[in-house]
Formats: sequence, C-alpha cells, structure tokens
Amino acid sequence: MRESMNLRIERFVLGPVQANAYALLDDDRREAVVVDPGAEPEALLAAIEGYHVVYVLLTHAHFDHIAGLGALKAATGAPILIHPNEAAWLRDPALNGSAYFSSITPPVVAPKADRLIDDDEVLSFAGRKVTVLHVPGHSPGSLAYRIGDVVFAGDALFAGSIGRTDLPGGDHETLLRSIREKLYALPPATIVYPGHGPETTIGRERSSNPYVR
Ligand SMILES: [Zn+2]
Ligand SMILES: [Zn+2]
Repeated sequence: MRESMNLRIERFVLGPVQANAYALLDDDRREAVVVDPGAEPEALLAAIEGYHVVYVLLTHAHFDHIAGLGALKAATGAPILIHPNEAAWLRDPALNGSAYFSSITPPVVAPKADRLIDDDEVLSFAGRKVTVLHVPGHSPGSLAYRIGDVVFAGDALFAGSIGRTDLPGGDHETLLRSIREKLYALPPATIVYPGHGPETTIGRERSSNPYVR
C-alpha cells in the first residue's frame, strides 16, 4: 500500500462488515505487526508468512476486528495487546457484539490478551516507536496507534465520518473529545488508517469532517 520509513503497510478488508486489518511489514528485519485481524484472515496470514510477528495490536474488541485472532494466534503465537477496558470482551460474545449481530457472524470467542496497554505507552517495533493513544467513545477501550507519520485509528475516526456510539459502552461526547484532543492534535500530514473504509489524513478531517467541528 505505502512505504513509510521502510515500513510496508498492507490493508486487508475482512469479514461480514468489511473491517480493515493491517499488516505492517519491515522487510529488512522480517518483522511484522498486525492490527485488528478480522474474520477469514487467510490473505493476511499469507502476507505475514516468514515474518516474526512482534505484536497483534487491537484498536478495540468488537467482533469485526478480532474474529481472526484465533487463527492468527495459532499460526504465529504473537502476543495480543488491548486496553484493559475490553480485555474481557475478547472471550465474551455478548460483550464483543457477535451475539447481538448473530445474523451475520458466528459467536466470537477469541484468545485472551497477553498484555494490557493504555494511553501514552510506547512500544517498540523494528527500531520504531509505536505510541498508544486512548481514544474512547466508540467503545470504552478504543486505542489508536501512532507510528511516525501514520496512525491506526480503529473505529474512532473515518474518512468523512466517525464511529457509531450506540453500542454498549459507547458515548458520543467522549468520542468527540477523543478525536479533538488526541487525534486532531497530531500533525496535519499524519495519514489515518481507519477501521473501515479508505485512508485519510488528520488535516483533511480537521478541515472537512462534518461530525467533528
Ligand atoms: Zn467497532
Ligand atoms: Zn468496526
């Protein structure tokens, strides 16, 4: 998709609600990070074959972003990282929404998390810093991950839209505050890779997103 600091970013649109999964690939070190492995992750698994997967980073634990975790964990053993507010959601179809959306998904019982992370934490991936941003509102444990000039925003911010806040634990005012204070504070050239739909930039959303003024 794009080269950034010799980082290759591949997007996979997975599952019944077309969630974006991402593979971040460092071809020199053969190391990878996976963000949000959704259902039917075969293409994603093929892309990371031969790479050491350092982290599986979850933006949140709605079923559409975690349904491929079992297959990914079985294939790689890579550690799963999530905010503490949603750690229990991984193994509970009522909490991760797969019970409520049973017309489009089987119940999702994912592997448990290996590590809980929160705002301002800094992870290291192949010599790069990955900064964790807590951006609640779409869900109480929503996280964004910033690496250099890119940010993985999950379902907080989309191109021209924002995440829904009518699911359990969602809160509209909290989401607006997260976007204004955490995401819009990033440099305008920062590229946003959202949980659904095409990429955008912080600057474009700040100037034109109709939901956050
Ligand atoms: Zn969601
Ligand atoms: Zn989603």
